[in-house]
Amino acid sequence: MPDVFADLVGQDEAVTELRRAAAAAAAVLRAAATDRTPALVAAGEAETGAGTPDPSAGMTHAWIFTGPPGSGRSVAARAFAAALQCAYGTGCGECPGCHTTMGGTNADVRLVVPEGLSIGVGEMRALVLRAASTPSGGRWQVVVIEDADRLTEAAGNALLKAIEEPPPRTVFLLCAPSTHPDDISVTIRSRCRVVPLRQPPATAVAEVLVRRDGIAPDVAQWAAAAAQGHVGRARRLARDPEARKRREAVLAVPRRLTGVGAAFDAASALIEAAEAEAEASVAEADTAERAALETALGAGGTGRGAAGAIRGAAGQLKELEKRQKSRATRAQRDALDRALVDLAGFYRDALTMALRAPVDPVHTDTAALAGAGAQKWDAEGSLRRLEAVLACRAAIDANVKPRIAVEAMMLALWKG
Ligand SMILES: [Zn+2]
Repeated sequence: MPDVFADLVGQDEAVTELRRAAAAAAAVLRAAATDRTPALVAAGEAETGAGTPDPSAGMTHAWIFTGPPGSGRSVAARAFAAALQCAYGTGCGECPGCHTTMGGTNADVRLVVPEGLSIGVGEMRALVLRAASTPSGGRWQVVVIEDADRLTEAAGNALLKAIEEPPPRTVFLLCAPSTHPDDISVTIRSRCRVVPLRQPPATAVAEVLVRRDGIAPDVAQWAAAAAQGHVGRARRLARDPEARKRREAVLAVPRRLTGVGAAFDAASALIEAAEAEAEASVAEADTAERAALETALGAGGTGRGAAGAIRGAAGQLKELEKRQKSRATRAQRDALDRALVDLAGFYRDALTMALRAPVDPVHTDTAALAGAGAQKWDAEGSLRRLEAVLACRAAIDANVKPRIAVEAMMLALWKG
């Protein structure tokens, strides 16, 4: 049985640091059990203190995992949470602490996964309050916040207060793309230790697909390269024929751009494909949630009062619909972003070929097409097109309407 860090692909430095921290955290617990200096050292102070080595020096109560999407931020946070709850302090992968944390059932590990576009203040306050309680398993209360960059300002402030005056046994693990102030407020950042994750190399991604998911080596290699270091995306490409079909449609775009009309058609197709993909990904959860809420509210009941209960429940259903809509918007943006990353990979291939750079193509299956593009556009034209794709991503990120941003991009790709 591999330990809890096994799936953190190509992140040796981070894993070393987290193992050391987990060992230090275990030392803190042992010291507390024997009544010796049980305090954690705050972030930033650990390495500056001269004199006798402190057994807790590798550990602190607030962490930020940063890295590009798919690099394994949340995988790292969960693995570290498991190591903190591990009976041996190592993340052995076998003890109940490791098992329950990795399985998402540990009572002392709370996971916040924002479904909509942001994490609200109400949710954060409730979380902070519960995180202050004594850990029932006798080790740590761990709060994992995925996509901490989606905290609202008010939620960020509620979190900051907890991080500034942390309960003695509470550990906060935040995940964000970077420590840029747009992603994480400077004050929260200053209270946390940062664990930067890298984009894992394709060979490491392929290796884990073969070992963990039993995917054939040649398929794993192709998928790892095509996914550009995104582990989850690589697995989906290797396993899901629908995902492969969507990718092929995206990579057919450069060939289809033969005029203004075709550019607008391509924009529509891309937007609609993202919508369809998003709808498919949330539909099941939406239906299940609605059914669960209706059951809880007594729908389908035939007794007296059932109709009245439904009327009173309209507000709750509305609230659910609002949440679901927000999640659908997020899913659409994520789907569109994946398509744009694929497209950027294609023009990057054209650029590296035009420059005769000694690097492997991202998309081996469209390498010939990218080569033809390189000849036609030269390095400058390839670079302009790559920039058009990146500008589209940036515009959508800055809340430009996706259709408008994509139309502008397609025209730029056509004109060159
Ligand atoms: Zn364990």
